[in-house]
Amino acid sequence: MEFEATKSLYAKSNSLVTHLECAMNGDHYAAGVSHGLSKIGKPIIVKYDLEELAKSVTKEEIENREGGFWKYREFLPVNKPENVVSLGEVMTPLIPLNHCVPEGCNVIVKDEGRLPTGSFKARGLALAVAMAKELDQNHLAMPTNGNAGAALAAYASYGGLKTTVFCPDDTPEVNIREIELQGATVYKVNGLITDCGKIVGEGKEPIGWTDISTLKEPYRIEGKKTMGLELAEQMGWTLPDVIFYPTGGGTGLIGMWKAFAELEAIGWIDSKRPRMVAVQSTGCAPIVKAFNDGVEHAEFWENSHTGASGIRVPAAVGDFMILRAVRESGGFAIAVDDEHIFKARDEAAQKDGFLLCPEGAATLAAWQKSLEQGLVKKSDTVILFNCATGLKYPMPHTDRNLDCTKPIDYDQFK
Ligand SMILES: *Cc1c(COP(=O)(O)O)cnc(C)c1O
Repeated sequence: MEFEATKSLYAKSNSLVTHLECAMNGDHYAAGVSHGLSKIGKPIIVKYDLEELAKSVTKEEIENREGGFWKYREFLPVNKPENVVSLGEVMTPLIPLNHCVPEGCNVIVKDEGRLPTGSFKARGLALAVAMAKELDQNHLAMPTNGNAGAALAAYASYGGLKTTVFCPDDTPEVNIREIELQGATVYKVNGLITDCGKIVGEGKEPIGWTDISTLKEPYRIEGKKTMGLELAEQMGWTLPDVIFYPTGGGTGLIGMWKAFAELEAIGWIDSKRPRMVAVQSTGCAPIVKAFNDGVEHAEFWENSHTGASGIRVPAAVGDFMILRAVRESGGFAIAVDDEHIFKARDEAAQKDGFLLCPEGAATLAAWQKSLEQGLVKKSDTVILFNCATGLKYPMPHTDRNLDCTKPIDYDQFK
């Protein structure tokens, strides 16, 4: 049984967390108790005893373990095996694009749509739910553009926790329905994700729920970190030249950057890092603007709109962490418009049979634009993140009918 297998794999280890730290000023916080944002209102990140980590497991042991992200247990904060919540995660495949990129280009998609609930939000929310169990939190609340709420609902229901979820009222209908159906109570709010976040924040006091917003608790990023661990393992403990990441709250980009630092600290990879590229939509590009302006924090993006709903985040609490990682890596931030996003989606689907989600398609469009502008080389090994299954999003209408009561004109099929 998958769950038993995951539990027994996990059973050997207690967490190697030493403490937590404010990502802005480095203040220390204790492990084993609940945390939201730091005293100065910034994200808190988890620190491990890396010397002990290096001694406690080898690359080979990790490679020989079955399953998805829970196999990196030494790199994760969960103490007690009974708190692991698993819905059958897999190591997500790396798939080279074939016909929709020019010959000689090495563009590989990491397809996160294969995870439970169909998006990479499973990684972060599995960890958040496991840690909520560990810390005796029993009611979780979050604002979401869709996929995070679905992953929270599924993992929390499986783990026996209560969830309340707030979405902007123009969130794709399929997301709202799956959240409710998977056991959460979901509300549509006539505002943006930031307005939903405000409701969650203000409800903490009267309701006592835990705020699971992006980077407002320390553990979702630890789950997202496993994308970096997994990528390194899949590439034989080396890393690609460039990573294109569709950036909303930025947890995945920051998480991978943390993973690479931890892997280097324990001597599993060398100091070569990919250039990290934050991809946004021209309809909501606060990080791109801040990157281009050379500033440390992003301004609120007014009137944000894009069909790539997962990256419609007008303000990110971890903005300075995203910008730091992008700059340290020698990468850049780039915005693409919806026309190019959906053109890229259609091309990948029609030429390569690969149904990207709009956010994943944004990374393909951004790579195309970067190649044109000379920001990346044709010879670069590039990873694009397809963060959700394309099946969750509206698809173009088709209207080709046949009348089977009349003679069929077979010429039309030629
Ligand atoms: C959440 C989400 C993103 C953005 O991820 P972050 O790590 O929060 O920046 C991108 N695409 C999809 C499909 C998402 O659900």
